[in-house]
Amino acid sequence: MNILLVGSGGREHALAWKIAQSPLVTRLVVAPGNPGMASLGEMRPDLKATDAEGLAALAREMKADLVVVGPESALAEGLADRLEAAGIPCFGPTQAAAQLETSKAFSKAFLQRHGIPTAGYGVYEDVASAKAALDRYSAPYVIKADGLAAGKGVAISPDRADAEAEIERMLGGRFGSAGSRVVIEEFMDGEEGSLFVLSDGTRSVLFGGAQDHKRAFDGDLGPNTGGMGAYSPAPVFTAAFTEAANERVVVPTIQKMAEEGVPYRGVLYVGLMATAEGPKVVEFNARFGDPECQVLMMRLDGDVVPLLLACARGDLTQASAPAFKPGVVICVVLAAKGYPDSPLEGSVIRGADQDFGPHVQVFHAGTKLRDDGALAAAGGRVLNVCAYGDDVAQARERAYEAIAKIDWPGGFHRTDIGWRALEPR
Ligand code: AMP
Repeated sequence: MNILLVGSGGREHALAWKIAQSPLVTRLVVAPGNPGMASLGEMRPDLKATDAEGLAALAREMKADLVVVGPESALAEGLADRLEAAGIPCFGPTQAAAQLETSKAFSKAFLQRHGIPTAGYGVYEDVASAKAALDRYSAPYVIKADGLAAGKGVAISPDRADAEAEIERMLGGRFGSAGSRVVIEEFMDGEEGSLFVLSDGTRSVLFGGAQDHKRAFDGDLGPNTGGMGAYSPAPVFTAAFTEAANERVVVPTIQKMAEEGVPYRGVLYVGLMATAEGPKVVEFNARFGDPECQVLMMRLDGDVVPLLLACARGDLTQASAPAFKPGVVICVVLAAKGYPDSPLEGSVIRGADQDFGPHVQVFHAGTKLRDDGALAAAGGRVLNVCAYGDDVAQARERAYEAIAKIDWPGGFHRTDIGWRALEPR
């Protein structure tokens, strides 16, 4: 098989690592890719993940049997639609189905229409009506920009004055067109978890749960980021919680999307809150989470390609159900100093490509190779150190042991990834 993988982060490095192990694969092209994946396939750094036309042309040219889309930006640009028109199987939803992520107003209306549990909400286009609507809620206030804002379009305001300031900021152009509408939501209290689902448009299969750490610094302090670490499985996904989430959220979502004429193909990332009333949807994403994808790929036992292909072709019955290794995988993100606001570019990293033994994988994200061959930082989140262990404690110890062997004065990481899973429940 010829496979085209779209993206350049740790998520895509982990996908490339897993895909490249498949005996079905003869050629793997990654666009744009990153230096860490260069030994796994052909990189196309000249193609951006948002260049739907260029990527579709490449897929046709290389006679791709399957295109695997990592980031939501490519989906929002309609890459899956173009591939569908060209008859090329695509793992990733169409632009219309990806609205489950790309428009909070769309996903909230969908959930409400079908009685799928989520926080009560309202959508507002002007500052005055949004502020007035705060009367119907109580602190803490949850204010969200409607569109894609790279995970940064959500504010949890402790009081009304802060909530009003957020409304003004979001509707005042802080997020461009993503902030032309705001969503105000009821605050949901509980523990969060991310559930991953593979779907072929009508059928779905659970692909594991994970928890991530969004805040930049230890103790879940500091600004929100794209994610500073993750682990899977996560204790919040007890058998009962997982079953309830599948019955009340996953199955009806896939079924109703199909009934509404927007079948969802690919991976659905369901952000859930374990509330006193059971699972409620916090958000949907139309792709794997990053770093969650990395821990899932390391846990997956067996070939990932038949699963991705079966979803893309619209018939999950062609693949056997995913099986996971026992034990836990943890991922610790190494970010450039200054991330997320102004990451320092160009600092040199030494020791990232050594052999860390059978339990550790290092996946690249924002890295570049300098002309002199040195590896350097070229983004916010730069490296991801993933480790397998019999339990969270062992996985964590292995990850931090490996990190200690990487010499990167220009970077930082959290030292408490997995703390929630280590606390007595
Ligand atoms: P979102 O981008 O919608 O996932 O929101 C980002 C984060 O804000 C979530 O991961 C939650 O931690 C928090 N959050 C969002 N909506 C709510 C809500 N209604 N109640 C409580 N926390 C929320």
